[in-house]
Amino acid sequence: MYEGKPPSSAGRKGWSFDALFGRSPADDPAVPVVQASALAGPDEAAPTDLFGRIGGFLRTHRLDPSPVNYDLAYQYLGGHDPALVASVDAAIARDGLLRHDVAAEIAEAASSRVSSDLLGKLIDQAHRSVTLAAALVGQSRTDASAYGSALDRGSAAIEAGGEPAGRALELMAELTRTMIDKTNDAERRLVEMGSQMSSLQGELAEAQAVAESDPLTGLANRRAFQSRLARAMAQAAAEGTPLSVAFCDIDHFKSINDSHGHDTGDRILKMVAEALVEGVGEDAFVGRFGGEEFLILFDGIMARRAAMRVDEVRDELSGRHLVSKTTGEPLGTVTFSAGVAQLLAGEDDGAMLRRADEALYAAKNGGRNRVVIHGEE
Ligand code: GH3
Ligand code: MG
Ligand code: MG
Repeated sequence: MYEGKPPSSAGRKGWSFDALFGRSPADDPAVPVVQASALAGPDEAAPTDLFGRIGGFLRTHRLDPSPVNYDLAYQYLGGHDPALVASVDAAIARDGLLRHDVAAEIAEAASSRVSSDLLGKLIDQAHRSVTLAAALVGQSRTDASAYGSALDRGSAAIEAGGEPAGRALELMAELTRTMIDKTNDAERRLVEMGSQMSSLQGELAEAQAVAESDPLTGLANRRAFQSRLARAMAQAAAEGTPLSVAFCDIDHFKSINDSHGHDTGDRILKMVAEALVEGVGEDAFVGRFGGEEFLILFDGIMARRAAMRVDEVRDELSGRHLVSKTTGEPLGTVTFSAGVAQLLAGEDDGAMLRRADEALYAAKNGGRNRVVIHGEE
């Protein structure tokens, strides 16, 4: 059963639309904040060494000792990232302990903050290069115009016969040589700067890719998906073309993790991500919404056709008999449920995703391993 919770603005388990699209619970002054120092295990003496404290933290919150969780605990207990500490404290105050899915969200947010820091540095560097290039161009123009006026003055002097022609020509030749040197120098610096700029461009593209993708599956992360969705929605609304989204959620994923371990869970997440990317069609865009939830954007496609494509993937996946890569033991089958919604006139992204989520809830309630279109539950 799907824990009998009705679809509501609080969303399904694990996250809420208010938190995603508007106000975050961390903003609520009524939520007491638990400090990092209050987080030793409930009935164990707080170990003083960091390694022990990290272990205690993971045990207290029943988090798997995965690299991501270890890093999260390290960052939290070390207090290196104030935003991360605040998010963890707020989550503990809200839920009583740090839930694994919330931990994963906080870790993801922290890693995208790191990449935005990197992006910020690259932008600063680009800014400096552009300023330098502009200064160089400005200097070259000043030199060129000074040279022009000096030539004018020289030829005027020759015409007026005020200065011996030989001396004036000598001065002008000297001036020309200086100008040629300056031009060569400026050209060399511009070439150097051009190659710096193009490597910077490559690094920027790389940083942008890191900031926008989910490290485990390589899919677009939630932020990247939402910005792509917003652009597609604006265009669909302007052109009156259809647009649909599908929310996919792996069934009983927690028990897969519990029975076979987190690493196997991770491999299954990657496998489902690949199956979706390969199966939904090149004109669809798949993102990882978080945890074991995926979102698919079907731009220009009506709900019925989108649901058919998702259902083909669901059908193919549910027929695979999986075997553990490490132990060779059978893992059984993995299925997912999905909800599909088509954009309504005047609707915003939050409302459309909420309807897809309601359809997903109906798919879960209807027995899982199925696709439901909103309005056809
Ligand atoms: P349902 O069919 O109702 O969706 O049940 P469920 O067990 O799939 O849903 P639930 O929300 O209870 O559990 C989701 C689980 O997904 C819990 C969490 O540990 C796991 N999870 C979230 N992110 C990751 C991840 O990156 N890797 C692994 N291995 N597990 C993850
Ligand atoms: Mg879920
Ligand atoms: Mg699930």
